[in-house]
Amino acid sequence: MTEPTPWPPLREELRGIEPYGAPQLDVPVQLNVNENPYGPSPACVADIATAAAEAAVTLNRYPDREFVALRQSLAWYLSRDTLAGILPEQVWAANGSNEIMLQLLQAFGGPGRTAVSFAPTYSMYPEYARDTNTRWVAGRRADDFSLDLDAARDLVKTEQPSVILLPSPNNPTGTALPPEAVGELCEAAGDGLVVVDEAYGEFRREGVPSALELLPSYRNLVVTRTMSKAFAGAGLRLGYLAAAPEICDAIRVVRLPYHLSAVTQAVALAALRHAPELLGKVDELRAERDALVTWLRGEGYDVADSDANFVLFGRFADRHAVWQGLLDRGVLIRETGPEGWLRVSVGTPDEMAAFRAALTDVDGERA
Ligand code: PMP
Repeated sequence: MTEPTPWPPLREELRGIEPYGAPQLDVPVQLNVNENPYGPSPACVADIATAAAEAAVTLNRYPDREFVALRQSLAWYLSRDTLAGILPEQVWAANGSNEIMLQLLQAFGGPGRTAVSFAPTYSMYPEYARDTNTRWVAGRRADDFSLDLDAARDLVKTEQPSVILLPSPNNPTGTALPPEAVGELCEAAGDGLVVVDEAYGEFRREGVPSALELLPSYRNLVVTRTMSKAFAGAGLRLGYLAAAPEICDAIRVVRLPYHLSAVTQAVALAALRHAPELLGKVDELRAERDALVTWLRGEGYDVADSDANFVLFGRFADRHAVWQGLLDRGVLIRETGPEGWLRVSVGTPDEMAAFRAALTDVDGERA
């Protein structure tokens, strides 16, 4: 007798796998998923509500499949970060940069192709590879979490990936990439795509340029962004990329029809009209981040340099106990990254004070 097939008939390689996701717990201080702690002003909320109401009138019709107005607005927004400017045909958008990455691997990865990144890095990357049947290869970062460029170049030459995923700043370490490294990997990649994931790009420290500057020089470069972090729009689900128009065109082959709802497009456009306000707290958050790094180092912790709105710190013999101790005191952070380290998002001054007090308490208890 043949073994009965397990129910439901899930793909073999997905059996027993837990779905990705940070715990969503209702605690007073939430510093676990790198959100912007500041919500929109009443004026912005009112404008978004009006835009959503206008979209609602047309909901019997499918939305603009090519989201022309939104591409124009995103191109205008991105053009602030590069002297060469960005054209609407160089922009693509989807429901969060998670969907952008999946579409990139659907179009440019797949069976017989390889995707490469450098660990420790964003834990969703191997999942996009798995879901698109793309072979996954992870190189290692140096001990300070920077990229060892020689080793990276060698790996790219050996593996010949069709997609290289390079977050800058990297999650969970906060490490930004120097533009020279991006340029050299674009050259080493040949026809492979180099995807610089700038989900946290707006939080870079002074003097660290965006990879957008390099777009005119490398046709295989893709720069992804999101409205989830600096833009204070995690609930909106809007990610986007800038790349050569041929790359954007190719993604149209794999996207689901009308993947950006009329409501999403209208609300994203309204949010972009309020860009200065929504981004208005970025400088404060960067200052808060730098103060947090200084404080943690002063307390004797190892802390990775951060260009993002979170900080990786350690090292703990039992990081789960520390994470749990903080949670017991109403502070939720993230147990992620290399063994012994924890990641905390940058919140409001009050939230950071609560975090510092809770950590002091937890560590005092352990001593
Ligand atoms: N890239 C990185 C490096 C991230 O950390 C995240 C979210 N945590 C994303 C992409 C996806 O963000 P979203 O789908 O909200 O745009």
